[in-house]
Amino acid sequence: MKQWKCSICGYVHSGEEPPDTCPLCGADKSEFFLLEEEVQEQASDSVDSKSSTEEEVNQTKDNNTNNNFSSSIQPFKEKIDKLILKHHLHPISVHIPNGVIPVSVFLLMTGYFFKNQSLMDAAYYNISFVFIFMPVVLYTGYVEWINNYKKADTGKFRIKISSAFITALTAAVICLWKSFSPEESGMLFFIFNFVMLISAGVAGHIGGNLVFKK
Ligand code: FE
Repeated sequence: MKQWKCSICGYVHSGEEPPDTCPLCGADKSEFFLLEEEVQEQASDSVDSKSSTEEEVNQTKDNNTNNNFSSSIQPFKEKIDKLILKHHLHPISVHIPNGVIPVSVFLLMTGYFFKNQSLMDAAYYNISFVFIFMPVVLYTGYVEWINNYKKADTGKFRIKISSAFITALTAAVICLWKSFSPEESGMLFFIFNFVMLISAGVAGHIGGNLVFKK
């Protein structure tokens, strides 16, 4: 039986034809290639990479002549991005919102139900930590999307990226809301918490599928 590999996420499909869309990343049929072709592609890639390395060297020389601010921070940014990819910092960092948000919402609900201000305060401190940490999650996710998923503009990636931004935005709103009016928490406040919980769950679910290639 033929095996087809998604060039975006690496999902492998067995069958005479590739699927219409990738079940993991939502990439189009055209992004699939026959697995035997991979060896040939890797061989041509090594030739391409040789010529592209030469181009990069020339580019670097050109960049060096442009002694401006952006070229001076570029090597630093590349180092950081390489470390992010090498140590899988995005799948690690997403454990903060995915682990802490359910705890925070649970504390909020139990605090509200039992009229216990300490539990509500604990929810606020937890979500403050998520709010502070979200830029790391978003940036590491961006680096992975650019480098590991070819900046794929598919439905699944749009949902995942939108969910991540909604999580960050709702965490910011909840945090600022509680900072300025600690006593006030009506229905809208609870809605914000549930939207944050659901969006973190959606982003985490799609991300988990991509990482574990289910
Ligand atoms: Fe895919």
